[in-house]
Amino acid sequence: MKKHLTLPGFKIIKQLAEENNLQVYVIGGYVRDLIMKRPSKDVDIVIIGNGIKLAEKVAEKLPGKPKVTVFKRFGTAMFKYKGIEYEFVGARKESYSSDSRKPAVEKGTLEDDQNRRDLTVNALALSLHPDSFGKLIDPFNGLQDIENEIIRTPLNPDITFSDDPLRMMRAVRFACQLNFTIYPETLNSLKKNKDRIKIISKERVSDELNKIILSEKPSKGFKILDETGLLELIFPEFTALKGVETINGLSHKDNFLHTLQVLDNISGKTNNLWLRWAAILHDIGKPATKRITKNGWTFHSHEFVGKKMIPEIFKKMRLPMNEKMDYVQKLVSLHLRPIALVKEEVTDSAVRRLLFEAGDAVDDLMTLAEADITSKNERKVKFFLKNLENVRRKLVEVEEKDKIRNWQPPITGEIIMKTFNLKPSKTIGIIKDAIREAILDGIIPNDYDAAFEFMMKYVTENKLNTNKK
Ligand code: ATP
Repeated sequence: MKKHLTLPGFKIIKQLAEENNLQVYVIGGYVRDLIMKRPSKDVDIVIIGNGIKLAEKVAEKLPGKPKVTVFKRFGTAMFKYKGIEYEFVGARKESYSSDSRKPAVEKGTLEDDQNRRDLTVNALALSLHPDSFGKLIDPFNGLQDIENEIIRTPLNPDITFSDDPLRMMRAVRFACQLNFTIYPETLNSLKKNKDRIKIISKERVSDELNKIILSEKPSKGFKILDETGLLELIFPEFTALKGVETINGLSHKDNFLHTLQVLDNISGKTNNLWLRWAAILHDIGKPATKRITKNGWTFHSHEFVGKKMIPEIFKKMRLPMNEKMDYVQKLVSLHLRPIALVKEEVTDSAVRRLLFEAGDAVDDLMTLAEADITSKNERKVKFFLKNLENVRRKLVEVEEKDKIRNWQPPITGEIIMKTFNLKPSKTIGIIKDAIREAILDGIIPNDYDAAFEFMMKYVTENKLNTNKK
C-alpha cells in the first residue's frame, strides 16, 4: 500500500510522526477506496493523541498553509488542500446508552477506534509512521471482506446497529454503492433491529437514502431495505405499491417492482437526483386509485393523486420543499403524456401543449417516459421507444418554429387593460386564455401582431364587456 500513499498531506504527517514519535494512521473510507481503486476525496486521520494539534501542525507545513477548522466539541479538526479534505481526530472509545446515538467518548487505542467503526470494510487503517509506513492494520479481516464483496460489522451486529441505528442505513447504502452482499448474520440483525431506526433524524436517513438513489443500481438498495423491513418504516408510501392482486382472473403488475425497474432504467441515463426521485414517485398514486372493472384494473388519475401526495412525502422525509419538489411534481403529473401522444397521431398542437406544460422539464419528461417502458415484450418496447423518439424529434421541430418552451404571452394583461380601458377583472383572464389556446391549437402564430388581431376579433365576436368607446 506504501506506494499509493502519495498525497502531500501524508508526507508531512510521516515527517511529524518521526520527529515526535506519533502513532498516526489513515483510516476508514479512504483506505477502503484505495484498495478498491475508487476515487476518494476525504481522508480521515486518526492519531493516538490530540487530533486538533496534529491538524494545525500539518497545515502549518503545507504550502499556502490551509485554514484549519476546529470542532472543539467533537475533538476534531479539518482542512482542505488541493481538493482533498483531511479530517483529524484522536483515537477514541465510545459507549452508548439505549435512547441516543450520541455516545460517551473517551480517549482510546487504535483498536478501540476500529471497534467503533460501522463495517469491517470501513475499519481498515494504514500506518503513517515511517517505521511501518503503509502497513495495513486489519483486525476484522476487512481486506478479505472487500475481496469477497461482503458487508458485515466488526463486532456483534446487534450491538453495532443498536448503538447507532444509522449504521443500518449505511450498511445497506454500502452494499448498494459497492455492489456487495450483506453477510447473513448482519442481514438478520438488520431485520431484528429495524425499529431502532426511529431514533435517527429524518435528515440523516434521507441523506443515506439519497446516496442509495444515486448509486449505479439503486434497486439493489431498495430491495434490501424492503427485505429487512426498513423501507416500510422510512417510506411506507413506497411499500404500498407492492404486490399483485387478482380478481376474476384479472391481475395487475407489481408496481413496486415496476417502479424499481424504472428507477434503474433512468439511472442509466441521468445522475440527476430529482429526476431519479420522479421515477420513484411516478406511480405513487396507484394504490389510492386502484379499481377493478370488467375489462381489468384501472388507476385513473393516479398521476394527479401522486402529484398531490408529494408535498406530504417530502415534508416527512425532510426533502427540500422548493423548486426541486415542484419539478418532481410536474414530472409525476405529466408522466403519461408522452406515451399518450405516441398512441395518437402526433399533431403539432399536442406537441405544443406538452412543451407549454412541461417547459424546461420537457427533455427530462421524455427520459422518464422512456424509462417507464418496462414491458417484457421486446416488440412492444421497441415500438414505444421508436415512437417516443419521433415525439422527441417533433418537440425539437415545433419548439424551433413556435418557441413555446418558455412561453410568455405575446399580449400582456397590461396591454389588454389599456386597449379596452379595463380595470383588473375576470375579462382580462378570459382574453388571455383565449389567446393562449389559439396559439397552442395553432390557429394563430406565436407573435404579437397575430395575437392582437385575434384578440380584437375575439372580443367583438364574443360580445365581451369592455369600456372601449
Ligand atoms: P462516503 O464518503 O462515501 O460517505 P465514508 O466511508 O468515507 O464514505 P464517512 O461518512 O465519511 O463515510 O465516514 C468515514 C469513516 O467513519 C467510515 O469509513 C467509517 O469508518 C466511520 N463512520 C462513519 N459513520 C459511522 C457510524 N455511524 N458508525 C461507525 N462508524 C462510522
